[in-house]
Amino acid sequence: DNPKFQAALPIVERLEAAGFDAYFVGGCVRDGILGRPINDIDIASSAYPEEVQRLFPKHFDVGLEHGTVMVWFQQDTYEITTFRTEAEYQDFRRPDSVTFVQDLSEDLLRRDFTMNALALNSKGQIVDYFSGQQAIAKKEIVAVGNPYDRFHEDALRMMRAVRFSGQLGFTIASETWQGICDNAQLLEKIAIERILVEMNKLWESPYWHQGITAYTQTGLYAYCPGLQNWESPLSQLLADLSSDMAFTESSLAWAVLLWTAGCLADDDHKKLARAWKISNADRDRISAYVALLIYRSDHATYDSWFLYQQDIDQVLKLERFIHGQADQDSHFATYFHILDLDQVKKSYQNLPIHQLKDLAINGRDIIHHFAPDNKAWIGKALKLAEKAVVLGQVSNEPTALFAYLTDY
Ligand code: ATP
Ligand code: MG
Repeated sequence: DNPKFQAALPIVERLEAAGFDAYFVGGCVRDGILGRPINDIDIASSAYPEEVQRLFPKHFDVGLEHGTVMVWFQQDTYEITTFRTEAEYQDFRRPDSVTFVQDLSEDLLRRDFTMNALALNSKGQIVDYFSGQQAIAKKEIVAVGNPYDRFHEDALRMMRAVRFSGQLGFTIASETWQGICDNAQLLEKIAIERILVEMNKLWESPYWHQGITAYTQTGLYAYCPGLQNWESPLSQLLADLSSDMAFTESSLAWAVLLWTAGCLADDDHKKLARAWKISNADRDRISAYVALLIYRSDHATYDSWFLYQQDIDQVLKLERFIHGQADQDSHFATYFHILDLDQVKKSYQNLPIHQLKDLAINGRDIIHHFAPDNKAWIGKALKLAEKAVVLGQVSNEPTALFAYLTDY
C-alpha cells in the first residue's frame, strides 16, 4: 500500500494482462518492508525486452543486452528487466553474458543477499524463497546460496555487504562474514570506480560506524588502493568518533580519515585521490576539509582572512560535525574548541567583502589611477587591497584604497 508501489501497479498489471509474469523486485521490496523511503522501483518480468518495448511505447533502452528497458510512465521512470540468470563469470567481475529465463525463482537466485531477493506481486503477496523476510526481521545480511561462490562470481558484493550494513544498520551473518574475510583479496579485481561508489555510500550512511567496522575487521580495506596498511588509522577513527553523528558528505569522511592518519600534506591527498579515481572537485573538497581540521585543532576562533578564503558551506558542515561529536562526548571533539555556530555564521556575514569582485576597485581602476609600468604590480596591489579590506584595515572605498596603495 506504499504510494510508490500503487503508482507503479498499472505497469505490472499491463504486463500481466498481456500474459506475462511481473513482480516488483529487489531493493524496493526490502525498503517497503523496512518502511524506508523507496529509491527506485524495479520490475522483473518474463516478458522479453522487445515485448516490454511493444507494451510501453514510451521507453528508452538502457541495458538491452542485460534485458533492461527503462519505461516512462506517468511522470516517472521504471526499469523493467527480463528474468535472467548470469552465466559465465570471468575475472570475478560482472557476467559476460546473461541468459533469459521464464521463471522468477531463477532470477531471484542470482541476487546478492536474501533481503534483496524478495519479489512482490500485483496482489501484494511477497515471494520469498530464501527467508529474506526473516533476515530483515533479524537485521541480517545473508548471501543467497554459498557466500564463497557468490563472492567469486562478483567480488563487489563484499563491498555491497558492508555498504548495506552502514545504510541499514544490519549485521553481516556469520557465514557471509567468513566468506568476505576469506575472499577479500578478490576485491583487487574490481574496477576502483565501482568500489568508490560503494565506499562513498558507506561514508554517507547513518550506520557508517558499523559498516566501517565491518570494512576494517573483514580486511576489505587492505585490498583497496592506498589503504593497504591502514588498519590502525581506521581503528583510530572508529575509536575516536561517536557513531551517533553521521558524515554529511563523503569528502568530510575522507578528510577526517586522512587527518586521523596524520596524512596532512596536499600530496598525500592527491595520491589517495588518484588511486581511488576521486574527481578533482571532490579531491579539492577533501583537501579543504583537511586544511580546516588542521586550522581548527590549532585555533580557538576563525581569523577573518582565513575565513574569507574558505568555502563557508564546508566551514559550517565541519562545525556542525564537530558539534555533533562534542554532544556525544567523543574523543575526536576534544581536539577542537567548540565554537558557536551562529557566531561563525555571523563572523562570515560580517566580513566587509566575500570575494574579490566585491572590492570597490578593480585592475582597470588601478591602471587608471597609478599607470604602473610593472604589470605584475597590478595583481599584487589588488591582493594587498583585498586583504586589508577583509582585515578591516581600510574601508572598501576607492579613495581610501588608492591612498592605502600609494604607500606601496
Ligand atoms: P539501493 O538502490 O537502495 O542502493 P538496491 O538493493 O536497490 O539498493 P541496486 O544496486 O539498485 O541495489 O540493485 C537492485 C537489485 O539488483 C538488488 O536489490 C539486488 O537484488 C540486485 N543486485 C544489484 N547488484 C548486484 C550484484 N552485484 N550481485 C547480485 N545482485 C545484485
Ligand atoms: Mg536500487
